[in-house]
Amino acid sequence: MKISRLRIYQVDLPLDKPYALSGGRLHYSALDSTIVVIETDQGLSGIGESCPWGSSYLPAFARGVRAGLAELAPHLLGCNPLNLNAINQVMDLALPGHPYVKTAVDMACWDILGRYCNLPVHTLLGGRLNTELTLQSSIPTSTPRQMVVDMHQAHAEGYRIHSCKVGSGVSADLSRIQSLLADRVRGDHLTFDANRAWLPAQAIAVMNAVKDPEVHFEQPCQTLEQCQHVRRLTHQPLILDECIHDAGDLYRACARHTAQVIGLKIARVGGLTKARHLRDYCIERGIQMNIEDVGGSQIADTAAMHLAMATPHQYLRASWNACRHHSIVTAHGGVSVSRGIARLDDSPGLGLTLCPQTLGDAVAVHE
Ligand code: MG
Repeated sequence: MKISRLRIYQVDLPLDKPYALSGGRLHYSALDSTIVVIETDQGLSGIGESCPWGSSYLPAFARGVRAGLAELAPHLLGCNPLNLNAINQVMDLALPGHPYVKTAVDMACWDILGRYCNLPVHTLLGGRLNTELTLQSSIPTSTPRQMVVDMHQAHAEGYRIHSCKVGSGVSADLSRIQSLLADRVRGDHLTFDANRAWLPAQAIAVMNAVKDPEVHFEQPCQTLEQCQHVRRLTHQPLILDECIHDAGDLYRACARHTAQVIGLKIARVGGLTKARHLRDYCIERGIQMNIEDVGGSQIADTAAMHLAMATPHQYLRASWNACRHHSIVTAHGGVSVSRGIARLDDSPGLGLTLCPQTLGDAVAVHE
């Protein structure tokens, strides 16, 4: 089987509500997503998506996805999409780095492999270990009062784990944290995610002022080294997210026992093939994961849920679905969400059918 054509689509995903994180430093009102359809000489095709969360969340941006795909396409034409290792080698040789570009291609090739085998991608990623997945809500940075309102709304929708975005300074964040802890519904679990905003001294001050044993803190500082500094002087479980880009980052974090949970976002690490390796290493080291994607629509959410479905339950903390934040439908099938719980059926591949009216015309065709 050979890749015969790549069709590239651009889709705007306006958010239902403006979204702020990192203590309010970073603002988003819409996402720009790229969807790839890979066609083969045998008539099978697969779909993938890459949607950076704006241009300021990670070293990734939406126009970069499409520019990167134009670089990669000549190298991918003629390759066998069923050989995921070879596909990834070709991409890494042709364009070092840029994992957020490659994720869409890798995802589409897994979809083709699943359709070819008539098996769901979660079977090919190791086999289904879950019937349902716990999702977490994402509470944007705002006033303490508004964040409590948003947390209660998420609880009413069925969410029981809430990732609350903080990061604007010690006293402002302690005010948010104390309000959210005081007003949470009994039994709900909270993460306070600073999204890189704190300096180590700020992170240490905030974390040591919070005594609740159930609380997790996430990505307090910019770099892994800064987070390691924080780890040595604090005691709560720490989630690392934005600073884990590849297996080397994960090994370094594990070597010093910096992270108790990893935010494993598919696009950040380059696709399902690489995420699967990181998933397996986290299991080996006893590290829990939040398996999810960086952003996007039904396609990206569904791909991430296939990996989560094939991951032992005790290693999953919660997943997050980008689709909760917008109402654009790019595909039918795949992950379904009800009351904060995600489910997937056993349809072949990713189990998705594209909505052509949402996609419009391709912005590029490589053949
Ligand atoms: Mg995070």
